[in-house]
Amino acid sequence: MILPGSTIGILGGGQLGRMLAMPARQMGYGVAVLAPSGDAPALGLADHAIRASFEDLDAARQLAQMADVVTYEFENVPAQAARIVEERTPLRPNSRLLALTQDRNEEHAFLDRLGIATAPGCAAHTLVEFDAAVVRFGMPTRMKSARGGYDGGGQHRIVDAPSHAAGRDKFLTISDGWRIEAEVPFEREVSVVVARSVAGEIRTWAPFENEHRGGILHLTRWPARGSERSLARAVEVARTIAQAGELVGVMCVELFVEGDDVRVNELAPRVHNSGHLTVEAAETSQFEQHIRAICGLPLGSAAPVSGGAAMVNLLGGTDQRRVRLHGVGEALALGAHVHLYGKERSRPGRKMGHVTALAGSGDEAVRIALAAAGSLSLVGA
Ligand code: AMP
Repeated sequence: MILPGSTIGILGGGQLGRMLAMPARQMGYGVAVLAPSGDAPALGLADHAIRASFEDLDAARQLAQMADVVTYEFENVPAQAARIVEERTPLRPNSRLLALTQDRNEEHAFLDRLGIATAPGCAAHTLVEFDAAVVRFGMPTRMKSARGGYDGGGQHRIVDAPSHAAGRDKFLTISDGWRIEAEVPFEREVSVVVARSVAGEIRTWAPFENEHRGGILHLTRWPARGSERSLARAVEVARTIAQAGELVGVMCVELFVEGDDVRVNELAPRVHNSGHLTVEAAETSQFEQHIRAICGLPLGSAAPVSGGAAMVNLLGGTDQRRVRLHGVGEALALGAHVHLYGKERSRPGRKMGHVTALAGSGDEAVRIALAAAGSLSLVGA
């Protein structure tokens, strides 16, 4: 067991790192954060801040030396930095799971081996393979960069000859390859956040239902709607993945649901935006659970504390200056909880904060969270 008083290292300084640092500090751990300098929300909560690029292997070594366990808050940590850390101190989740989720094609091969359904697709490394895949899967087809995609980035929809031609141009801009995927019908998107401890104990929160806008998460509702069988299957799939990947910590499995069927869309070996509402809505938040798991402590209950909950993201708009949030009083008066990540500058689509609401039902929680988010605005200071 890595007990309070020890130091937890975090690779990455975004809002996920910041929200991990909060329960870590509450429980009496020291926190060391490695993040590129600049507007990194987690740095302000760190006892030790290492401002360096993830490519800086000396910085990774330094983090490993000062930490008793190291984790990461985004999955694009360079493999070499992960290996350097893992040679010196436990890296949780392990570097194998990290590497696997860094490449969509490897991720899908792993899911195929486990017999878990995904959207039909294949890897494409040449234009010939690309064209053949578009013919094979028909239109609409999605092309997704094998590596580095985030929040719908690196994706393109092929629906007709002009978008196919544009896709061919896009194809040539990346050398790591692509995954070409049939578009599948779905009634809803859900995610299962699953925690696994060093001892192999697994806990999941009930599935979250997610609505995206422009590829970015907009709204999460809890509990998810859908058939009991589909939701039970989603949880079972997440448990299988956690076990097979020898997960230690928290990870997120995103799925498409159609009737009783589920297909995995993607994996993230870290705390996840769709789990933010667990801070208020569950007996143990995803952030505290992750800290417990990576420190070898017993996991907490993932039970909900209310009949329903909802979360709405607050995204940056076109105003790229320093911003201030207006309307906090109104949002709080509606009964919502307001989270701001302390980012100084806004960019379109940048996640600046979120609001959470608890209520007797999911519908009511969604109503409150949307009203609260609607009363908030980010305005140039
Ligand atoms: P991703 O970056 O893979 O999570 O994709 C972003 C969003 O695009 C997803 O949340 C879905 O709404 C949509 N999407 C991705 N892949 C597919 C697919 N194969 N079929 C239908 N919709 C998809």
